[in-house]
Amino acid sequence: MTNAPPPPSSAAQSARNILTRLHEVMASRANAQGKLNQVVGIIGECLDSEVCSIYLLREGALELYATRGLKQEAVHVTRLGLGEGLVGTIAEHIETLNLDEAAAHPDFSYRPETGEELFHSFAGVPIIRRERAVGVLCVQHADPRRYDDIEIETLQTVAMVLSELIANADLVDTAARTDAAATDQSAQRLSGQKLVDGMGAGVAVFHQPRITIEHTVADDTEAERHRVYAAFDKMREQIDRMASQAEFGVGGEHEEVLETYKMFAYDEGWSRRINEAIDSGLTAEAAIERVQQRTRMRMRQIDDPLLRDRMHDLEDLSNRLIRIVSGQMGTAAQMGLRQDSILIARNLGPAELLEYDRRRLKGVVLEEGSLTAHVIIVARAMGVPVIGRVRDVRTSIREGDLLLLDASAGTVQVRPTPAVQEAFDAKLEISQKRRANLAALRDLPAITKDGVAIELMINAGLREDVAALDLTGARGIGLFRTEFQFLVSATLPARERQQRLYRDVLDAAGDRPVIFRTVDIGGDKALPYMNVGDSAQEENPAMGWRALRLALEREGLLKVQARALMEAAAGRTLNVMFPMVSEPWEYEAARSLFVGQRTWLASHNKKLPVAIRYGAMLEVPGLVETLDLMLPHLDFLSIGTNDLTQFLFAADRAHPRLAERYDWLSPTVMRYLARVVKIVSGSKVALGVCGEMGGRPLEAMALLGLGIERLSITPAGVGPVKAMIRSLDLAKLRADMPAILAQPSSDPRKQYHDWAARHRVDLGD
Ligand code: PEP
Ligand code: MG
Repeated sequence: MTNAPPPPSSAAQSARNILTRLHEVMASRANAQGKLNQVVGIIGECLDSEVCSIYLLREGALELYATRGLKQEAVHVTRLGLGEGLVGTIAEHIETLNLDEAAAHPDFSYRPETGEELFHSFAGVPIIRRERAVGVLCVQHADPRRYDDIEIETLQTVAMVLSELIANADLVDTAARTDAAATDQSAQRLSGQKLVDGMGAGVAVFHQPRITIEHTVADDTEAERHRVYAAFDKMREQIDRMASQAEFGVGGEHEEVLETYKMFAYDEGWSRRINEAIDSGLTAEAAIERVQQRTRMRMRQIDDPLLRDRMHDLEDLSNRLIRIVSGQMGTAAQMGLRQDSILIARNLGPAELLEYDRRRLKGVVLEEGSLTAHVIIVARAMGVPVIGRVRDVRTSIREGDLLLLDASAGTVQVRPTPAVQEAFDAKLEISQKRRANLAALRDLPAITKDGVAIELMINAGLREDVAALDLTGARGIGLFRTEFQFLVSATLPARERQQRLYRDVLDAAGDRPVIFRTVDIGGDKALPYMNVGDSAQEENPAMGWRALRLALEREGLLKVQARALMEAAAGRTLNVMFPMVSEPWEYEAARSLFVGQRTWLASHNKKLPVAIRYGAMLEVPGLVETLDLMLPHLDFLSIGTNDLTQFLFAADRAHPRLAERYDWLSPTVMRYLARVVKIVSGSKVALGVCGEMGGRPLEAMALLGLGIERLSITPAGVGPVKAMIRSLDLAKLRADMPAILAQPSSDPRKQYHDWAARHRVDLGD
């Protein structure tokens, strides 16, 4: 943005004339109706229009609130439904209409009480508040002429200012405010899909706080211009800093996004349009928003997905600019949760969720989300209930609303009535009692009714998770996801930091085993500070350069981790597991790297682990074909059912639409796992499951039926799964398994469920 502003354009000048006069009306002591009457007078006069009218949404219809030019008897009488007539169409589609012959439009609806038959041309724009139309501003003229671009621009700018006037309680009485506001007050129940079980109550907090522009008309245009200059400078600085911090250099998606951001941030056209909007008399925030609105409207007419993506970037940047200029920065996490809260977001990354204060975060409601996405695994580890795929979140919930989240029912109650609150409290009490009963199982062994001991371990990834060992009475940690530390860090964690974490975890676990999985980054666990894409952008990151593939090429990364693990486990047994092994040579290469590091440490007289046990994850289906070759070199094998099923079904584990399409209990998965059990049986390799599947009682029962006797699961699953184990006659199930696998029913879930019911297995439901 240059410092010498160009002279205001005629569009800006025209809007400014009106805004200056509107400013006086807003400041006057007239009552609400009086102000509206003056407003239509001013607009009609300035735009040389015989008619100017304002319709406002009230009790679900657009009511004529003020007019110059139509019959005054029609005021507060003429009402049009959303989608009805030209006015209703404008509000429903949030679009501008500009017609030389109004009656020729298919949506035209004639209202005799208005006397509008005298007028031919018509132009109308929506009055928007919080992304919804709350009214319509329109002008009409006796001549059949189209309004020119400058006039339309002016109308749109004026409509923005009107939205502020309307929101202002002294313009319309509270009872007469929009129906949007009216429904917003009432209790509502939204439904979605349970992603992490549990219940929680708190106030609604938006992850990306929505900024409401309070003042649209500037008192001092020059001051507003300077605010925008300063905001642009700051935003460009931020983008440049982000680009220079992309620590792993050139190429990839990360860089491309930043390049696009940079292009927009320095785009003179964009800053010029904002400057023009300021010239028309708007505040800095309103000017940015005005330009954004205009872009959005143009976008609707473009049908190019690539361009649309770019426009999303511009929206993002525009929001950032508004946040900077209004001083409302950052996500809700950065601002801190002040009370018990339920977080609302379209979607979240695992690192973003980890930024929140666990003590005050009582639940999460997502518009997207799927069961095995990493953010959900993290939420489960944090003990935070989550529901996903909830529609209309942004329109139904407002910041600060009281929410009652019942993930097991897949519902969130918005602004609950006292009766709903009471029912919720009663259910919460029952669920707490059940949890207390399960906690009582803590010290009892995980042994089936017929005496088979099952090894029940937990999955963890953070230092704090280790506390769950004592709380659940689990046998150890069967999967420690080391990448969580990488996800929560702003930079690549140094060896000392890694070592400290591993040592703390081992100390806390005492004599209980911990299986450390080497970093599984990439896929949906992208690191902001590390470009994990290849030189070309990755189209399928889950099947891309991730986990062991990345670690074997970034040898330095794996070497550092190997040393950190060995030094942390000095004097004890170290269990290491490699993720995403696709072929035996990858496992061998990783193991040799560890052996090499052990030799190096020994040659430097460092204290070493007393033993190192090596394991692999089975999560790439193809590995089963060469598993026999790997078995002699393995100490243990852990089946990662999250990735395994996404690859078996070729169905993205993070895709919201596919979240419920395939069942873990389908014969595809069960027969595959039966085959793995058969291959491994007879070897000395310990076989277990560490995916989310094992943490659900019914699925865990089926796994036991297949012959699997080690499960590493989410801590919240230990109680329910142990209750299932202790009520199960395993020999009976195993005797029935061949028939179930050979003749699966069309509803395999029901088949297992019925079996459990017949044999009185405690599934907790
Ligand atoms: C899995 O894929 O099942 C697994 C346990 O690993 P993650 O969920 O971390 O990918
Ligand atoms: Mg995995």
